[in-house]
Amino acid sequence: MGGLLDPAVALPAAAALGLFVGSFLNVVIHRLPKMMERGWNEQCAELAGREPDAAPRYNLAVPRSACPSCGHAITAIENVPVLSWLALRGRCSACKARISPRYPVVELAAGALALAAVWQFGPTWKGLAACLFLWTLLALAFIDADTQLLPDDLTLPLLWGGLFANLFGLFVPLSSAVIGAIAGYLSLWTVYWLFKLVRGKEGMGYGDFKLLAAIGAWLGWPMLPQVVLVSSVLGAVGGIAMIVARGRDRASPLPFGPWLAGAGAVALFFGPQINALYFR
Ligand SMILES: [Zn+2]
Repeated sequence: MGGLLDPAVALPAAAALGLFVGSFLNVVIHRLPKMMERGWNEQCAELAGREPDAAPRYNLAVPRSACPSCGHAITAIENVPVLSWLALRGRCSACKARISPRYPVVELAAGALALAAVWQFGPTWKGLAACLFLWTLLALAFIDADTQLLPDDLTLPLLWGGLFANLFGLFVPLSSAVIGAIAGYLSLWTVYWLFKLVRGKEGMGYGDFKLLAAIGAWLGWPMLPQVVLVSSVLGAVGGIAMIVARGRDRASPLPFGPWLAGAGAVALFFGPQINALYFR
């Protein structure tokens, strides 16, 4: 570990690790919703007394990644974060079908977040914990944008992870983390029911409550008003931009999770400064 504590080694190492984690996050973003759907179908079949459809195994490790157009199995050299996509000019090596630029974007984002976390918190347990927090937020933001789901398989471990990190006081005292988790859940839960009573429709989902609970567990209850405020502003600006850009139907639900995740990341880095401005 000694050499790793030198920033000249730690910062490039964190960025490189982040790029490879980003490559894994692409798999999580793509497959986790499909795995959940398969799980629901199996449960439905079980409840209805039907035999679940015999389907080939599908999880984060199996089957191997392949081109969706031609089935060409992605080789190790074609799977190097960002560089492979650039070398292949964003096309499958076998059939030349376009590969979405989203893959290198997620990899770059995961690398940049890791770099920023280790820059701010050092090559320490705190820096490592911040990376785990940010990477999970990144995956949740993309999954929610794609599917309007915030999987329990990510939000709940994120919540426990925050409590665990603050058991050692890495970010805030444990009492602040516990109150943050409870208050985070209850505040959006209350807004949800008020909105439902007044407007007769749902503005967000239970996944949003769990995500804010997780952010409260990591950053403590004093960050919650700021996270709600920043995410609402981001969501309003982003929503208007999307309606203008795509002519999107106003009634169609816009996911709130990506904005919450973004506000959580902002609060990790700049939360105390923003709160100081606000309360001055
Ligand atoms: Zn192909």
